[in-house]
Amino acid sequence: MSDSDSQFHSVQVGDSTFTVLKRYQQLRAIGSGAQGIVCSALDTVLGLPVAVKKLSRPFQNQTHAKRAYRELVLLKCVNHKNIIRLLNVFTPQKSLEEFQDLYLVMELMDASLCQVIHMDLDHERMSYLLYQILCGIRHLHSAGIIHRDLKPSNIVVKSDCTLKILDFGLARTACTNFMMTPYVVTRYYRAPEVILGMKYKENVDIWSVGCIMGEMVKGCVIFQGTDHIDQWNKVIEVLGTPSLEFMNRLMETVRNYVMNKPQYPGVHFEELFPDWAFPSDSEHDKLKTSQARDLLSKMLVIDPEKRVSVQEALSHPYIHVWYDPAEADANLSTKKLWTGRKETRTGLQKKRHQMQQ
Ligand code: AMP
Repeated sequence: MSDSDSQFHSVQVGDSTFTVLKRYQQLRAIGSGAQGIVCSALDTVLGLPVAVKKLSRPFQNQTHAKRAYRELVLLKCVNHKNIIRLLNVFTPQKSLEEFQDLYLVMELMDASLCQVIHMDLDHERMSYLLYQILCGIRHLHSAGIIHRDLKPSNIVVKSDCTLKILDFGLARTACTNFMMTPYVVTRYYRAPEVILGMKYKENVDIWSVGCIMGEMVKGCVIFQGTDHIDQWNKVIEVLGTPSLEFMNRLMETVRNYVMNKPQYPGVHFEELFPDWAFPSDSEHDKLKTSQARDLLSKMLVIDPEKRVSVQEALSHPYIHVWYDPAEADANLSTKKLWTGRKETRTGLQKKRHQMQQ
């Protein structure tokens, strides 16, 4: 069958050919990530703009295959306003033997957080964006997914300040440093537990939120390490050498390395995030500034035992102004979704566990 007879049409997007259902028209490249290129398009059936992501040869190796499978299953399970919604999935190939490419159609947002993070954000916008990130990750946590790799490029926003998380982060046993693509992995937002290979819990994601908030305030990446090892140097130079009690929880080889570093006293948060870095037009702004700095000082804590939890961050005065249980209390909707799909919670958890191995 020729292309014109089929349900599909092909469009050249940069170096890549998008072969998509004919209902998707007006394709334009809007971004690229570790898995491939993303285009905006018009869904002529729904009359709505959408994002189309091409996963190029997702089964070329085990890492790609597991990541693609995990992303697809989780996108289908998760249902929350702060997590991107999957609208359609298709492949233009007609048999299993030919199967090469997978296209994910998602709701279209206006920009990634990378484009917004360095703008002059007022306290309302900044706290609302952070509130939505926290609601999104709380929902993921309630479904048993701990992200560990939240970063501005994986978060998208609309001009009305609504926000959605695009992906599900690192799989439990992901060999994330091994990828057969020239794509550079950004590690600036990864928590000490991840950098140092320690046990982690839900508040590993709070670290990343702290880094994102710090960047919103300062206008630059706060821990910009050149590599894995330098990432740790940047953290201790700013926050100071962690306690012996923390060091004792490290694996021996890592502990030896970490303990042989010079001792750093750390910088005061008033110095790190001075008043002038925040909006300060009114008395209200001044109050908000002190709340914002207080929240930063509770999120950017090296030791996860001393760092706030997601629930505590959602209850913090800087964030709590936005609190709506329907958005922040994520457990309910997940349970509803699962029963709605006639799958038991344990069944799904088992499936997720298998995927993450
Ligand atoms: P990803 O491959 O999911 O990491 O996406 C790569 C980039 O494409 C992101 O950083 C965004 O700039 C853009 N992008 C992905 N999905 C969307 C979407 N649904 N709406 C708008 N932009 C998107």
